[in-house]
Formats: sequence, C-alpha cells, structure tokens
Amino acid sequence: MTLLELSGVSVHYGRIKAVSELSIKVEEGEIVTLIGANGAGKSTTMRAISGIRPLSAGTITFDGEDITKLRADLRVVRGISQAPEGRGIFPGMTILENLDMGAYARKDRKTLGEEMERVFELFPRLRERKSQTGGTLSGGEQQMLAIGRALMAKPKLLLLDEPSMGLAPQFIQQIFRIITEINQQGTTVLLVEQNAQQALSRAHRAYVLETGSITRSGSGKELLADDSIKEAYLGVG
Ligand code: ATP
Repeated sequence: MTLLELSGVSVHYGRIKAVSELSIKVEEGEIVTLIGANGAGKSTTMRAISGIRPLSAGTITFDGEDITKLRADLRVVRGISQAPEGRGIFPGMTILENLDMGAYARKDRKTLGEEMERVFELFPRLRERKSQTGGTLSGGEQQMLAIGRALMAKPKLLLLDEPSMGLAPQFIQQIFRIITEINQQGTTVLLVEQNAQQALSRAHRAYVLETGSITRSGSGKELLADDSIKEAYLGVG
C-alpha cells in the first residue's frame, strides 16, 4: 500500500522555485531516500511533507487521504513525525522531558511507557542520561534524542533530515544501523541524506534530486552501482 504520495509538488520561497513538480511515492514498510547536492531542495521537500512550508502546486496524499492543506500539527496526529535537520531538541529540558514533548499529539497516552522503553532500547545512551538536559548532550546524542522524540509520536512515517550530519564516523554507522532497526520494527522511513553511500545501502528505493527536480530513481542497490551516481555523489569515478 502506498503510504505517502507527492504528485506534481512545487514549493517557492518568494519568487525562487526550490522544488519543481516533484512526484515521489513511499510504500508502507519501506526506507526511501532522497539524495542530492546542497540546495537541491531536499529539506524543502521534507518541510512540504511535514506541513511547515505550503505548496504552490501539486498534492500530497498520506494514508489514503489528501493532506495538502492540512495543518502541520494535525499531520503529526495522522502519523507523520519529523526529526528535523539541525536536531531542534529543547536544550533546557531533560531527555525525559524532551521525549515527553514528542508525544504531545498522542491521545492514547496509556502506552507512552512502552514507547519510551522502545526508544531507550534503541538508544541505551539516552537511558543512562535521562535526567541530563538536552543542551549538554554531544552532537551524536542530540541526534539520537531528536530521533527518539520523533518516535514518541508513534508515527507511521518517520521523516529524517540528514541524521548523519556533523557526526563522527562511528556515530554515522550507528545511526544508520538504528534507522534500519526502526524500519524493521514496522516504521516506514523517508530519509534525506548527503551521505549517499550509507543512505543508498540502507534504502529499499531512492530518488535523486537536482535543483528541485527528480532526475533518477531506482532501488538503493541499483543507484549504488551506477557509474554516474558514483561519480556525482559517492566521490568515486
Ligand atoms: P542542503 O543539503 O544544503 O541542506 P537541500 O537540498 O536541503 O540543501 P533546501 O534547503 O531545500 O536544499 O534548499 C533548496 C533551495 O531553496 C536553495 O536554493 C535554497 O537557497 C532555497 N531556500 C531554502 N530555504 C529558503 C528560505 N527560507 N528562503 C529563501 N530561499 C530558501
């Protein structure tokens, strides 16, 4: 079943067209990645999906319903949750408080404990530091917290914007392993990444975004083996 579909989506910043007639699909259960250079429109696409940025054309369908004009907070209620680029955690709040904030949109608060347990199992380091404030965590730990907080909303679709950004190599491996684990536990993932090597090797399918338009798509493996992709995005050729 198709969980998310963008059809002919355009997004402008004033007169600048950042995303142009973009169409992508995410099937239930998949990890789909959107790769592209700086300024290609990856974050803008994520903002359009989470509802932070309005569309100038096109439609977004989620879980069988048209959400093109739905408010961002109501999209969270429907099951779309984003761990934003730059992390965006609450620096003055503890890990526990940050995680609690992630569940604000949930009506079934009975199972919050279970969700928190799931987050702590994925990220044992957060459990060890649960009373520490967000602002005192390392960059990698803040990234874990941002993903954990997004999971507290129990999303059907998890949006991850550059989860590996600014992380040391050993953290990068770990974050991607955990993304696969989250997916195997049943959460569909849309992942925006500049680390094309890792993203393509983890993703079921991938789209290449260039100056606001999709130029290629295929399975992660297919694109990983493609010479022009290697040259442009994998630093080999
Ligand atoms: P990066 O990998 O560098 O984060 P990106 O692929 O996520 O890049 P976007 O951040 O979506 O790219 O930007 C797409 C285009 O839109 C760029 O040309 C950028 O300058 C422009 N843009 C993004 N945000 C704004 C804004 N708030 N106002 C004006 N232009 C913007």
